[in-house]
Amino acid sequence: MLKIPSRYEPSDVEEKWIRFWEEKKTFVAKADSKKPKYTIVLPPPNVTGILTLGHVLNMTIQDVLIRFKKMQGYEVLWLPGTDHAGIATSNKVEEKLRKEGKTRFDIGREKFLEEAWKWKEEYHKRITSQMKRLGLSVDWTRERFTMDEAYSKAVKEAFVRLYEKGYIYRGEYIVNYCPRCGTVISNEEVEYREEEGNLWYIRYPLKDGGYLVVATTRPETMLGDTGVAVNPNDKRYREFVGKTVILPLVNREIPVIADPHVDMEFGTGVVKITPAHDPDDFRIGKKHGLPLVVVIDDKGYINENGGKYAGLERYEARKRVVEDLKSLDLIERIERHTHSVGHCSRCGTTIEPYVSMQWFVKMEDMARRARKVVEEGKVNFYLPRWKKVYYHWLDNIVDWVISRQLWWGHRIPVYYCNDCGEVMVSRDEVKKCTKCGSENITQEEDVLDTWFSSWLWPFATLGWPEETEDLEAFFPTDTLVTGWDIIFLWVARMIMASLEFTNDIPFRDVYFNGMVRDEKRRKLSKSLGNSPDPMELIKKYGSDALRLGMMLITPEGQDVIYTEKSIEIGRNFLNKLWNAFRFIDMNRTDVEPSIEDIYLTRIDRWIISRTMKTIREVENHLNNFRVNDAVRLIYDRFWFEFCDWYLEMIKPSIGKGEEERERSMKVALWVMSQFLKMLNPFIPCIAEEIYHILFETERSLSEEEWPVYEKTLEDEDVEDEVSFVMEFVENVRNVRGEFKIHPSVDLTVFLDGDEGKMKLLEEEMPWIVHLTRVRKLEKGTRRTESAFFGLKGLDVYVPLEGLIDVDKERERLRKEYDKLVKEIEKLEGRLSNEEFLKKAPEKVVNSAKEKLEYFREKAEKINEMLRHLG
Ligand SMILES: [Zn+2]
Ligand SMILES: [Zn+2]
Repeated sequence: MLKIPSRYEPSDVEEKWIRFWEEKKTFVAKADSKKPKYTIVLPPPNVTGILTLGHVLNMTIQDVLIRFKKMQGYEVLWLPGTDHAGIATSNKVEEKLRKEGKTRFDIGREKFLEEAWKWKEEYHKRITSQMKRLGLSVDWTRERFTMDEAYSKAVKEAFVRLYEKGYIYRGEYIVNYCPRCGTVISNEEVEYREEEGNLWYIRYPLKDGGYLVVATTRPETMLGDTGVAVNPNDKRYREFVGKTVILPLVNREIPVIADPHVDMEFGTGVVKITPAHDPDDFRIGKKHGLPLVVVIDDKGYINENGGKYAGLERYEARKRVVEDLKSLDLIERIERHTHSVGHCSRCGTTIEPYVSMQWFVKMEDMARRARKVVEEGKVNFYLPRWKKVYYHWLDNIVDWVISRQLWWGHRIPVYYCNDCGEVMVSRDEVKKCTKCGSENITQEEDVLDTWFSSWLWPFATLGWPEETEDLEAFFPTDTLVTGWDIIFLWVARMIMASLEFTNDIPFRDVYFNGMVRDEKRRKLSKSLGNSPDPMELIKKYGSDALRLGMMLITPEGQDVIYTEKSIEIGRNFLNKLWNAFRFIDMNRTDVEPSIEDIYLTRIDRWIISRTMKTIREVENHLNNFRVNDAVRLIYDRFWFEFCDWYLEMIKPSIGKGEEERERSMKVALWVMSQFLKMLNPFIPCIAEEIYHILFETERSLSEEEWPVYEKTLEDEDVEDEVSFVMEFVENVRNVRGEFKIHPSVDLTVFLDGDEGKMKLLEEEMPWIVHLTRVRKLEKGTRRTESAFFGLKGLDVYVPLEGLIDVDKERERLRKEYDKLVKEIEKLEGRLSNEEFLKKAPEKVVNSAKEKLEYFREKAEKINEMLRHLG
């Protein structure tokens, strides 16, 4: 016989089962299976990243769904992988080079890529081993990487197809440029923050004399001004439209134009137009045919167009420009001003709007189709409120800039002929110009935005563009679980790509999980020091406890407030489960779980009914992605009904003799097996461990069938009856507690009222005795020296004579009562004081009201007790 440790030690157990699943190929999907399919593609973590609590939350939800569906009889596939994360990985490798005193340009493209691949190999191992330790049911045999060979082919295919369709074009455009990362980033990768700055009011002299005052937050960009604009409806400036101003410091003549986009309320109502360095100005400039003058280069320095300011860093240039304007008496005033400034989401540097040649994807048509499938309910969002956000973005979509000035990534499959200038787009490497035959060919230096590869994830991972067996079997996938923060960057684009390339939706349901935050509602981050390492938590509590703790605090689609206490709660539940298991294992002798062909007592039928109800409700919750509701339900019912009640209720039967014990244990085992199956998706390791010991099986619990709900076994009458007896027991226990009756003292109870209820109590006496030491039920009432409670048509008297010192007790209760009355009067006084009500914060007033309510109830109860003591 196995020796079962009295304390549950997760680490050995968990690693054993994680190995077991991998060896037995438990979660390797069979494409040729006849079963219905259920597929999730895992949002690929960045290959250079480490596992965070956000990942734990996101991945556990998926794991729960996969394990649940597998037990429901689906052929499940959970496809894992990692993302090459262009900018993030490049930054890491560059950081490493910097420590050696080098830049990427010192070592060149090829050497840099070698370094990046080395980096990838190392960190790939780290992130995947962390994922494995979490006990995920992913199919590791199908693991993908966004830059593996087949995937790269898919990316090229997508680019070429879109190019051939006329969706991809190259153009000069104003883009968000991060001088620190040295690349363009998309609008979605810019984070806006309110910043305190200045608003400079600068005089721009008119050629004919006089001046206009423009207000700007970035005076250094004036070097690139090519116009001054006012609103056509602004009466103040109507006469100036069409005139010419002389740009100070530069002495360029620029026109005054009128454009309805000019905000009359901002500053003086006159704004400078710098088309090369501001997105709005770019659009206005284009409309009015103003020239582009680039004055800030891609490193954030003033270039040769900046005259005497050339070579200055942008903020240094600002200082000098302002000084010079001051000395010319052209600064009218300077105001403090808060405005929103774009920052690079990867490194935090202030974005520089920048005009350059980039590659773009036209989005309008794809956006329209992507909107339609959500409108028509072909793709569903949980929670549905995300639809609004999604529509809003699609309705205001701008073309997607997909080129990045990086080396790590998919190099754009565009080739230029250096002799005739021909531009060629090809799936294969171009060696010869198709127009002039020259072999002097250069491939585009830029790589594609990382999201241009990840938007193909749901089908490229299954083999697209090849018509593979996997694609046929598992696509469209079923559920995507991801954070709402990447609804545009990723979710919307996957829907577009899928419709474009496969003519089908990528997934039917999208579940947006919340963000993990700390108690102060701050996002978890390394720099705040509030981001615990999941691996440390696993070492301390085990992965099951971590997963369970996280699921218990994860309301659907809302933010998750994390404290380590939640993980302790998870661990405590595992201990409770372990103890219940040990109790059952100790008391059963070779019996099989069964509720058929045996006599079932009322409490048996009660726990069976409660279990059935749980199965029904849990299944409903999980089918609707209410993972948190499901796990809370299982948690409560198992702990408070099965462990705290049922296992106590059956103790008298267990002690009654072999036959009765075996009968009882059959039912207990059955209940245990149902709960283990329901717990398996959440805490698979401990569930597997207990299941294998209890049922001596070689099969994984995940291979077992999900508990089957049987309507006939749900019995409301029995539930009402037993819950009545439970209430009786609780009330008697309260009496024992209130009057501090010694646990060894037996009680007799007098009952008056409903005969049926009396009979019910009589029938359940064995466990009533066990839980309350009420030895006898008598008919009748007791007016004095007793405790009393009323219970659904039944008056219950507990005589206390001889059990406690009634006089002393009466005295004690009176004193307590008087004290309460004083407190109540005090609170009533305060709450009727107008001054207090007016001045005190709402929280204080409410808390006083609550306290009053509580004291009143308590006083009423003591009064009642005193009445029955007589
Ligand atoms: Zn950056
Ligand atoms: Zn050519």
